Amino acid sequence: MNHLDIKPYITQEQLQKKVSEIGATLTKKFKGQEVIAICVLKGSFMFYSDLIRSIGVDITCEFFGVSSYHGTTTSSGEVKVTLDLAQPVEGKHVILVEDIVDTGLTMNYLIQSIQSRKPASLTTVALLEKPEALKVPCKLDHVGFQISNEFVVGYGLDYQGFYRNLPFIGQVQNFQ
Ligand code: 5GP
Repeated sequence: MNHLDIKPYITQEQLQKKVSEIGATLTKKFKGQEVIAICVLKGSFMFYSDLIRSIGVDITCEFFGVSSYHGTTTSSGEVKVTLDLAQPVEGKHVILVEDIVDTGLTMNYLIQSIQSRKPASLTTVALLEKPEALKVPCKLDHVGFQISNEFVVGYGLDYQGFYRNLPFIGQVQNFQ
């Protein structure tokens, strides 16, 4: 693994502040109700685990595995399901937690897949969004940060499987 030059872009403090804000909004929205929070694997696992701890309502956890990049830095446009939901979501309030919306193809696929299972409601959350890269319309209810069209790693996001454990989001400087 070649080590990349990574420039800090969104700090741990900024991430934690944003997570608390989104968590507080969702707590108000779902007060007194039960929700299923879906973690989109693998990239959103860190954001997800912080976010659900800041949502103060009854939550059950589900995991949805998809892959679209296949180890490169541009989206293939194809979404492959690597792990489907273990429980039905019919009639339930669902919060879908994604790491980053780039072309929007993955989020679009996920929304359609979940809507076809007839939840009572679907709330979409993305930590990051690249508005310049969007190719298909995508209904995002909560976005942490809008960023420019550059490749980022850390806080769950990888490059060829690595860098997910960085506690901050960084921009990669030295791509070949
Ligand atoms: P989309 O389908 O919106 O083009 O891509 C969504 C998926 O591509 C994300 O869930 C994420 O896994 C990956 N992705 C998009 N942009 C980036 C990025 O800047 N860095 C990393 N590490 N992954 C990204």
